[in-house]
Amino acid sequence: MSNQQRALITGANKGIGFSIAKGLGELGYQVWVGSRDAERGRIAVAELEKAGIDARVLLLDVADPGSVEAASSFLSRQIDALDVLVNNAGIALGFSEPPSEQSMDELKAVYEVNVFGPVRVIQAFLPLLKKAEGARVVMMSSGLGSLGLVTDPTSIYSTANLLAYNSSKTALNAVSLAFAKELASLGIKVNAVEPGSVATDLNGNNGALTPDEGAVSAIRLATIGPDGPTGGFFGHDGTQPW
Ligand code: NAP
Repeated sequence: MSNQQRALITGANKGIGFSIAKGLGELGYQVWVGSRDAERGRIAVAELEKAGIDARVLLLDVADPGSVEAASSFLSRQIDALDVLVNNAGIALGFSEPPSEQSMDELKAVYEVNVFGPVRVIQAFLPLLKKAEGARVVMMSSGLGSLGLVTDPTSIYSTANLLAYNSSKTALNAVSLAFAKELASLGIKVNAVEPGSVATDLNGNNGALTPDEGAVSAIRLATIGPDGPTGGFFGHDGTQPW
């Protein structure tokens, strides 16, 4: 019987998520490429397969409860356990608006993907995670979600005051801690990561790191063993302030 581990990465058709899928695939994982668009997912999987990776597409819009339910019921017919879940899908809206001018519609749209999405996905895929030996969940947070960094005038993260995005990632950190506490007794580890400033479509490709470089912390936390941490927040320099 194969002991190949299985990983699901949301929003993996491009950017950091694609690089996480590639990195885990290169380590021998079977990677399920979460994509809200079937064609974009198919193209990403074809590229991963060309690199010799065991990759499959999973149609998954984290903002749509019906899509998440359908994806989890489809995946539970394909595999008997899920070893790794990376909640990577995320959006940023309102780069040019001060907090006092950001619309409630934008705020809700960002929270739907960045906060409610990961909650929904963990809840839907928990039965499969429970069936794995020592499953790992990685939450793609941001330095902009760190209250410690955004209040530190020496930090680059103190300069971007994005109401919806920053606060959604702060909420995601709290969500990560809540699940880490609940799931510790089941041997499921939940950690948040901060990828650094990565050039992707999310930020108009303005960033110091490549997506492959931005994927490093997520891959590290996705592959920790029984002695690895849970309920932590990690980046390239190690532990990040909450
Ligand atoms: P990206 O290139 O824009 O990729 C975002 C991914 O999320 C895409 O695959 C996108 O799919 C997907 N997505 C968006 N809404 C979705 C939904 N409702 N359901 C499912 N998938 C959805 O951005 P990225 O920079 O790689 O972002 C990945 C994660 O890293 C995000 O959580 C982001 O907040 C975080 N992050 C990024 C940086 C950075 O510097 N780039 C820094 C800190 C944290 P489509 O192609 O269909 O739009």
